[in-house]
Amino acid sequence: MKRFLVLAVAVTALVAQAQGFPGSKPIVVVVPFAAGGPTDLVARDLTLAMRKSLPGANFVIENVNGAGGTIGAGKVAKASPDGHTLLIWHIGMASTPSLYRKLAFNPLVDFDFLGVVNEVPMTLIGKPQLPVNNYHDFENYIRANRGKLNMAHAGLGSASHLCGLMWQSAINAREAMNTLPFGGTAPAMTALVNGQVDVMCDQTTNTAVQIETGRVKAFAVTTSERLNHPTFLKNYPSLKEMGLNGFNLTIWHGVYAPKGTPAAVLKQLNEALKLALKDPDFIRKQEALGAVVVTDSRIEPAGHKAFVASEIAKLKPLIEAAGKFAD
Ligand code: ASP
Repeated sequence: MKRFLVLAVAVTALVAQAQGFPGSKPIVVVVPFAAGGPTDLVARDLTLAMRKSLPGANFVIENVNGAGGTIGAGKVAKASPDGHTLLIWHIGMASTPSLYRKLAFNPLVDFDFLGVVNEVPMTLIGKPQLPVNNYHDFENYIRANRGKLNMAHAGLGSASHLCGLMWQSAINAREAMNTLPFGGTAPAMTALVNGQVDVMCDQTTNTAVQIETGRVKAFAVTTSERLNHPTFLKNYPSLKEMGLNGFNLTIWHGVYAPKGTPAAVLKQLNEALKLALKDPDFIRKQEALGAVVVTDSRIEPAGHKAFVASEIAKLKPLIEAAGKFAD
């Protein structure tokens, strides 16, 4: 009896295998931004954790940059629905339907949903040479230098682009800065640290260390409250606190498969995802950079899909008010 119990516990740590999946063929996880940025980081840490319950699974990260993540997402929407091509993307899944007049995919039609992974606050930051050190001086500096400064982002529809759009609209200074798209915010951060661009808004997973080590200046966080992180970013005000009523932007990441992926494969991947979200190593790595691992109903495919639908509806009027679209 005792032997039976030990065996039963060992088996629950692995997920039930769909027939022949994953086999020896790699599972390609498309990250629609450059390597080293926030989306890439979550994909690498998550797949490392998922592998623990899918022994032998060979996850390969493929960075497909461009157009705010829509090129990578479009590629996955058209991939063979066999579980060997997945997508990790962020709030762009919900913002791009309102930002692009034409998209190569419909978020709610062309994907199967595997679960939301994390939530990450953003920070409004500037190059170290900016001659200002607090939010109000920063805002005044942007207004005084209208049209002269560059804001880096990861393409139309990226989180950094959305944040810049919403912030400039909230301070009534639409298009106060020129925008400069990069393949992701990892290369954009290099340009900011080197003073080649002036401003960026990006996830703490890419900015916290740079801020704390003085390589960039931080002016505010985008969550409605200050960050309650035990070790960093304690002293930066929220934009709401700075008078931007209702400003609250948190970025989330989710995992997707092309529509039509077999149910047994989806179940296996979702179970591996849920085990990864409980993995202490994964949780520790995420929290160390300011991200919070999701534990609510959004880790189930149905909850994830309902959440994306609600985010599309929530973001539409905000993006329309900010008023800048791609073709
Ligand atoms: N943080 C990026 C964004 O602004 C994307 C990335 O490089 O992960 O959307």
